Amino acid sequence: MARVHNFSAGPAAMPLAVLEKARAEMLDLADSGMSVMELSHRSREFQAIIDGAESGIRRLLGVSDNYAVLFLQGGASLQFAMIPMNLRRPGKSADYVDTGSWASKAIKEAKLTGAAKVLWSGKGDNYTKIPKAEELKISPDAEYLHICSNETIGGIRWMQFPETKVPLIADMSSEIFSRPVDVNKFGLIYAGAQKNLGPSGLAVVIIRKDLVERTAGSVPVFMRYSTHVNSGSLYNTPNTWAVYMVKLVCEWVESNGGVAAFEKKSGEKAALLYDLIDGSEFWRSPVEKESRSVMNVVWRLSKEELEEEFVKQAKEAGFIGLKGHRSVGGIRASIYNAVTLESVEALAAFMKDFEQKNG
Ligand SMILES: *Cc1c(COP(=O)(O)O)cnc(C)c1O
Repeated sequence: MARVHNFSAGPAAMPLAVLEKARAEMLDLADSGMSVMELSHRSREFQAIIDGAESGIRRLLGVSDNYAVLFLQGGASLQFAMIPMNLRRPGKSADYVDTGSWASKAIKEAKLTGAAKVLWSGKGDNYTKIPKAEELKISPDAEYLHICSNETIGGIRWMQFPETKVPLIADMSSEIFSRPVDVNKFGLIYAGAQKNLGPSGLAVVIIRKDLVERTAGSVPVFMRYSTHVNSGSLYNTPNTWAVYMVKLVCEWVESNGGVAAFEKKSGEKAALLYDLIDGSEFWRSPVEKESRSVMNVVWRLSKEELEEEFVKQAKEAGFIGLKGHRSVGGIRASIYNAVTLESVEALAAFMKDFEQKNG
């Protein structure tokens, strides 16, 4: 069996141990005589799975009883719409920070249904940095402040989160479980699962319970947070397979030292690449040093043809998913929790070799 070095941005590498466990349980889950995909979502077996996924997330992030943990469909993208529909009451406005492709998608969606104020935009600088605290003038009467904590395409992240009196909302799709966060500082955290949590088609939402009450009467039933809180994420048939995989990923993260251990590992993996990029004129990092992501490392070469050649040769050598997003070009290595140090070391060695031959 030949497994590649997978640096894809999402769907992305899964932990091998999790895939093996899923394979072992594929035909007969917990003596049910069925695969998880054949089980009723109302069965005792599935209830244990969704409870396990929830308690795993609660333990790993230290989520208190003041928050609900939801498993929703529509990915992170549906949250771009659900957040303003539920949490921005009629006639009121919400604040947004435009740090890149994902933040701007959230802004676009929010503007469709009401008022959204963009406090700061990095667009003029090609989204290469995160604003400093003093650059943000948060509106005192805003319904919430929305940020994207790690921009998957631009390769930048918030090192420190803004201090706010209004509820802070963060899209953590591409970095959840890669560093400890104080959940109590947030009104709502959400993440599409396919980067650090499991398969695509599922969003995890952690919402402070008092915010669930804000929703106006005109919001469709399925789009209301309260619908999903009140039904334990079983209002309709959830993505049972994805919930099961998230449970396995939680168990894997816990058995490997928890989120703090992955923060350390992520720092080590990212440093391998950034040190190499900074150590030579051959490679160039377009993003501000203080804003660099440790999940999505982006870099450039002197010419686009050379970048294409790099991606092509890397693929032949078993390194997958290194082409930068089509909207920005360049190279991107996504080094989520499931990407091993050995894979990153192998990539660094390949880069050194490529530089020697082409530098
Ligand atoms: C991938 C990603 C999304 C979109 O997730 P979907 O599940 O495809 O909707 C949103 N935000 C960020 C930061 C992402 O990385």
